[in-house]
Order: sequence, then C-alpha cells, then structure tokens
Amino acid sequence: MLKDNLYSETLYGTYGQHFTVDQVLFEAGTEHQHLVIFENREFGRMMALDGVIQTTERDEFIYHEMLTHVPLFSHGNARRVLIIGGGDGGMLREVLKHKTVEHVTMVEIDGAVVEMCEKWLPNHSAGAYQDPRLNLVITDGVKFVNDAQACADGSFDVIISDCTDPIGPGEVLFSSEFYAGCKRLLSENGIFVAQNGVCFMQLGEVETTTARLGHYMADTWFYSAAVPTYVGGIMTFAWGAKNPASRNIALDVLTERFRSAGIATCYYTPTIHQAAFALPRYVEEAITKVNG
Ligand code: SAM
Repeated sequence: MLKDNLYSETLYGTYGQHFTVDQVLFEAGTEHQHLVIFENREFGRMMALDGVIQTTERDEFIYHEMLTHVPLFSHGNARRVLIIGGGDGGMLREVLKHKTVEHVTMVEIDGAVVEMCEKWLPNHSAGAYQDPRLNLVITDGVKFVNDAQACADGSFDVIISDCTDPIGPGEVLFSSEFYAGCKRLLSENGIFVAQNGVCFMQLGEVETTTARLGHYMADTWFYSAAVPTYVGGIMTFAWGAKNPASRNIALDVLTERFRSAGIATCYYTPTIHQAAFALPRYVEEAITKVNG
C-alpha cells in the first residue's frame, strides 16, 4: 500500500516488492476494489488493485503479447474473442491487432478501472476502446459466461481470462463454475487461456486449475513467461483447448501465421511460443500429482 512515497505490494505476507512513488495519479476505492495509479521512474505508470501490482507501462508488453498471440496464432482462424477482466486495455489492444478478429466482447467487473486506465494509462489501450469491433460489458465474468441469454453456446473461438489473483472479485474466475461457462461458450476448436499466477510462489494455483479446468477441456496445460513486476519468477498461463492438436502447431505454420498477420511484437516470436509450453520439472510434477 501507499506510504511515505513508497508503494509496497501486499500480495504475500512474508515477502514482497516496493516501488518509489514519484506521483500518485489516481487513488480511490471503487465499487469493487482499491485502485491506485502512480508514476515510478523505473517502470513508468503503474496500476495496483487491492495492494497487488496489476500492470506497468514498462513490462506490460510481455504479459499482453503472450496471453493473446499464443492462443490466437495457435488457433489460426479466430474471428470472435472474449476477454474476461482486462480493464487496463492492454489485452484488448493486442487482440485487435489481429485483423482476422471480427468481434471482441470484453467483460470487466469494474467500470472505474476501464475509465481511469483509459485516462491515466492511455498507452495500454492506445485507442482500442474506440474500435468498432468491441462490445464492452461491465459485469461479473462468471455471471456472464453462465448466462445463456447473454451469449449462445459456441460463441467464441478464444477466451482470455485477464483477471486479478484469486482473492476478492477475481476469485470466482478460478472456479469450476467459471470454467464450465467458458467451455459452453467455446466453439469447436476453441482455446481458453488465463493468467495463473507465479508458480514458484503460487504453485497451488497450478494444482487447482489442473483439477478444475481439466474437467472441462480435452487438453489442459500451462505455458509461461517471466514478467518482472509479477515478482517471484515465471508466471504460468493456463491453457485449455477443445482440440489437443492446438498446443502442437508446427513452427513453420506458426511462423507463416505470424508473418502474414504483420504484427510488430517486442516479446512474442513463434519460437518463444513453442518454448513457452516447456515447464520446469516441479511444475510438471504438480500437474502429474493432480492427474494421477
Ligand atoms: N495482469 C494482471 C494480473 O495478472 O493479475 C491482471 C490485470 S487486469 C487489470 C485484472 C482485471 O480483472 C481488473 O480490471 C479487475 O477489475 C478484473 N476483474 C476482477 N474480478 C473480475 C470478475 N469477477 N469479472 C470480471 N472482471 C474481473
């Protein structure tokens, strides 16, 4: 939390990180969470929710490129995408770079996060909120995916859960109820991905997701990237696919899809895409322990 020009993250009671605060741009309790946006000379503008760093201008590209281009280039023909959470707009910006994407529904529980990030973190959304392909829905993601009135079965080719940690409003986005709804909404070769915590510090999230998501998907695995301000090592991304082949796209196919998309990246490459699915032994063992 903010104190004496320092922002101290409170995610772990026994370990943490802090940032010098050059300027507080916004701070308030919203309807759902405590929101702070501040300037730090190392990472640029940063946003935190309920004491947890969510995103920074300097390293957001790693997280947003890996949670969008991996599922989208794996799928190869995604037209309709669902983003759950993602209020800072970075995920939306990267998805919309895919000109083959015809429609994006973004379901964010906290309208204040969208409003304040568009104002104080403009480089994250970079105009994405004005894209005519966007349908922005302010509501709880678990309610949305289970509301057959809101969306018919098979409505989306890729679903990206860009949510907070499983504490507070984000907790329900790690539940079986949420995964069941996402399975309902995925089309035939649909792919689901989600932020799934820093495995060295939050290995339990790998075990829980394996047990819960694995019940609904033909293929459940993880991939990873190191995002400096998600402290503690590599972050795992949950992977759930209706078609197991989606996780094993040949390098030359990924390379051609990447080339024809014409998207400039700073982190994602087809080679990193493939390598990201290789997991440390202790993470593989955590998955095996659950799967038996
Ligand atoms: N990159 C961050 C991370 O890995 O923790 C996530 C960033 S993004 C700002 C997280 C978003 O999830 C926030 O805007 C928050 O309001 C939203 N969120 C949390 N719980 C939600 C829910 N139940 N339904 C929809 N959005 C939710």
